[in-house]
Amino acid sequence: MNCTKCKTKAVIDLPRHNAAFCKGCFNGFVHDQVARAIKSEWMFGKDERILVAVSGGKDSLALWNILLTLGYRADGLYVDLGIGAYSEQSHTKVTKFAEAVAASHGATLHLHTVEQEAGAGIKELAQLIHRPTCSTCGTIKRYQFNRVAIEQQYDVMATGHNLDDEAARLLGNVLHWQEEYLDKQGPSLPASVAGFAKKVKPLYRLSERELAAYAVLNRIDYIVEECPMAKGSKMLQYKEVLNRLETESPGTKQTFYWGFLEKQKKKQPTATTMTEKDRAVLHPCASCSQPTTAEVCSYCKMMARAKTVIPR
Ligand code: SF4
Ligand code: ZN
Repeated sequence: MNCTKCKTKAVIDLPRHNAAFCKGCFNGFVHDQVARAIKSEWMFGKDERILVAVSGGKDSLALWNILLTLGYRADGLYVDLGIGAYSEQSHTKVTKFAEAVAASHGATLHLHTVEQEAGAGIKELAQLIHRPTCSTCGTIKRYQFNRVAIEQQYDVMATGHNLDDEAARLLGNVLHWQEEYLDKQGPSLPASVAGFAKKVKPLYRLSERELAAYAVLNRIDYIVEECPMAKGSKMLQYKEVLNRLETESPGTKQTFYWGFLEKQKKKQPTATTMTEKDRAVLHPCASCSQPTTAEVCSYCKMMARAKTVIPR
């Protein structure tokens, strides 16, 4: 198998593009896909400051690496969830990457530890406040990423969601006709109201397999294990189904998700409509000032509840 571009020995085949690449041309392909995503969705420019949400997994570390390689001003934020060995290992991977790679580009790593603020790791906290672990985790991560982005004056917040993540999420939203979520499933969400950072997903054109290959070929040391809380999740089930379809018909995920984006673009001028909708329902939280639909935001309610049930 030879590289479609330069005809030397290929290291990876990409059935959905009917192509194979050597390491150099594959890196060029990955960087080009990210550059196209940034440009076509008006994500950010070279003079803007980007905060990358890093988990220690392949996607977020690859994203940080790609943005720095492409010459963007990207710092990282890691939220330590306090999930035993999983969090210890992912924390180490992120710190190592920050010291070995990001620092040489002048980038810094921010850190938030759930246990320090809530008094317990995510699993224990969720049990004590009687909420599912993943929804507790989602609320905390969204809140902290937004807080750091706003407080440290970043222009935009970037996450490592890839094509598989977005196609699986779309499948879930369609199966349950979650129309409100469908409206917000684009790869670029504007900073609709003061206090909300703009959010982008520059990896939406790349698959999980392509990002794993990119990380391995570029010696990015990432945590291979999934978070133990993800076991049996609906998202993993949707991914499995889509992988089966992809094996039979390469390009299925891309056609599904990109096709949805095309339709959304024709349907509505997303940024304006969403900004109007958000402005109508959001106002500052009485406790922390982050935008919320209630009087007090769900994060502040959660922390208040944690104070009553966790001895300090
Ligand atoms: Fe958080 Fe793990 Fe659940 Fe993902 S699977 S939301 S990281 S607890
Ligand atoms: Zn609040």
